[in-house]
Amino acid sequence: MARPGTRIIQAKLVLVGDMGTGKTSLVLRFVKGQFFHHQEATIGAAFFTQILSVSEATVKFDIWDTAGQERYHSLAPMYYRGAAAAIVVYDISTMDTFARAKKWVQELQKQGNPKLVMALVGNKSDLDSKREVQVEEGEEFAQENGMLFMETSAKTAENVNELFYEIAKKLATAS
Ligand code: GDP
Ligand code: MG
Repeated sequence: MARPGTRIIQAKLVLVGDMGTGKTSLVLRFVKGQFFHHQEATIGAAFFTQILSVSEATVKFDIWDTAGQERYHSLAPMYYRGAAAAIVVYDISTMDTFARAKKWVQELQKQGNPKLVMALVGNKSDLDSKREVQVEEGEEFAQENGMLFMETSAKTAENVNELFYEIAKKLATAS
C-alpha cells in the first residue's frame, strides 16, 4: 500500500531483445513470481501491470512484452512511444544474443528520448557452466551507454526483483 502523500509515478516499461532470451519469463517472474520451463513463444496477453514502492515514490509499471514481433528485429513505433524505461535482454549462454542486444540499444537510442531509463540484462545466470558472455563485457557495454546492468535468472529469481527495484529507483529520482 502506498503511504498517504506518496508520489505516484506511472511508467511505461518495454522489453526488447532476441526471442528466447527470457523477456516473458522475467516479466512473469516479477509479476506472478512464477517460472515456466516451456514458456510459449507467443502469448496472448502482452501487457502487464505491477506496482513497486521505493522510498521516493510508488511506481506503477505498465509493462509491454513482445508477442513474437521481435523475431523481425524491429518493433512498431507505438511499442516504444511514451516509454519511460526499457530493458534490453540477452542470454549469457549465447553470444549472438549479446551482439543483438547492442543493436537493440542502438534502436532504442534512435527513438530519441534522452530521459529513457535503460537497463541491460544478462539473463539465465543459472547457466553459468554454459556461459559465453562474460560479466565484464555486459558491464562495460552498459557503462558506455549509461545503462543499468544486471545479470538475472528468471528461473531461480536471482536479481529479478532487484532489477525492477533499481529501475523504479532511477525513475523516482530522475523525475
Ligand atoms: P522470450 O522469447 O524472450 O520471451 O523468452 P521466454 O521467456 O519465452 O524464454 C525462452 C526459454 O528460455 C523458455 O524455455 C524459458 O523457460 C527459458 N528461460 C527463460 N529465462 C530463463 C532463465 O533465467 N534460466 C533458464 N535456464 N532458462 C530460462
Ligand atoms: Mg516472449
